[in-house]
Amino acid sequence: MKFKNDVVIGLEIHVELNTKTKLFCSCPTQGSEEPNTRVCPICLGHPGSKPKVNKKAIEYSAKLATALNCKIAKELIFSRKSYFYPDMSKNFQITQYEQPLGEDGFIELGKNKIRIKRVHMEEDPAALIHPGGIGIAKYVLVDYNRSGNPLCEVVTEPDLSSPEEARDFMKSLITILRYLGIFDPEKNIVKADANVSIKEKGYVRAEIKNITGFREIERALAYEIERQKHSDVKQETRSWDAEKGITSSLRTKETEEDYGYIFDPDLVPIEIDTSWLKKLKSEIPEMPEKKSKRYVKEYKIAADDAFVITNEFSLTEIFEKAVKKVDPVLAARWIRRELIRILNYNKIDPGEMKLNKEQFISLLVLLKQKKITDNTAQKVLEKLVVEDIDVQKYIAENKLEAVSDSGVIDTYCKEAIAENPKAVEDYKAGNENSLNFIVGQVMRKSKGKADARDVKERIRKIIK
Ligand SMILES: [Zn+2]
Repeated sequence: MKFKNDVVIGLEIHVELNTKTKLFCSCPTQGSEEPNTRVCPICLGHPGSKPKVNKKAIEYSAKLATALNCKIAKELIFSRKSYFYPDMSKNFQITQYEQPLGEDGFIELGKNKIRIKRVHMEEDPAALIHPGGIGIAKYVLVDYNRSGNPLCEVVTEPDLSSPEEARDFMKSLITILRYLGIFDPEKNIVKADANVSIKEKGYVRAEIKNITGFREIERALAYEIERQKHSDVKQETRSWDAEKGITSSLRTKETEEDYGYIFDPDLVPIEIDTSWLKKLKSEIPEMPEKKSKRYVKEYKIAADDAFVITNEFSLTEIFEKAVKKVDPVLAARWIRRELIRILNYNKIDPGEMKLNKEQFISLLVLLKQKKITDNTAQKVLEKLVVEDIDVQKYIAENKLEAVSDSGVIDTYCKEAIAENPKAVEDYKAGNENSLNFIVGQVMRKSKGKADARDVKERIRKIIK
């Protein structure tokens, strides 16, 4: 096979869809955590039970396939993937094989177009619990609560060329899922299997199973690439151990043919109605790229800020709420610069932050009204990111309101000027830094609660 990159990565990503009920029965997908309580004869595969497809799951999957620029199949066809394993009580998994719901799509990642081979629907297997850990446990427990939950599998072509790119791809996919409103990061997870090979070893491919989330994917692939460089590579399936940070051999790879796929006789092909599909397409919201362009045009914010904000669903949510109350440029600046800086400092991903959006916006409002200074707003935001506080109350309790009494500020300015004659002289001689020094003295006197720009202007006027 011919590849242009030294590292070749393809992903199979399993997305849990946020439907209320399972894919082929009416058991709830969420709720009781007591094992084996959200089950019925259909999801347990009792003889004689008949599956029925969840319409919402079809809708969600078709929306995803459309947003990923796929061609949508004319018919929805399900097959049985036969295998014996305790996580599948029927001894087969209902999936799509011969004809996936979507094919030939792509995601644009900066300048690179990552091709999507297929998007198909399938049911989730049960969860296997190994008390004490895999390899140590003397027995395995099975919880069928998850069994039958709707999954959408997104399979890429081997177009990714680094662990960072694989991470960006997953992040971008999660953003799309959130824009579509078919995925809730508090309830649903995204798991990936990754195919990886390197040029040095003749592109012999290993598959890494069960990598959860975009941070893990980067770690797992970085490890696996190093491993391949320094050892013999054979075609096999490996498992990722997030705790130890290593991959280890599971089995030599079976081929898809080994699963003996057959059409599911209980599920007749469903015609995908073109008018239904048209309606569905019209319901797809504005995606990040388009939104970013609109922000620049409509709100006159920097293209760079618009790009960062729209690529994170939680940030667009805040921005769109904020622009109803404050100047968009101010909102964009505080989200892009300050909020992200503080999140980074606390090692919190914007997609996972628990920020109280209303409180963040009231902080911006106070800033806009000049009731607090930039300096105070930064400090309060640092607190708000890690703790749900009532911003107004917090500011009042800690006496952080800006000093807006011009008499008081003027007094501070005059004092600072009188106390620093040398600095005043230097400023008059053209040294701008000396002015900043005097401003600093006033800020100290006001305990950081004066507006620095305002102070600077006042001092200039007094010295004149
Ligand atoms: Zn069920």
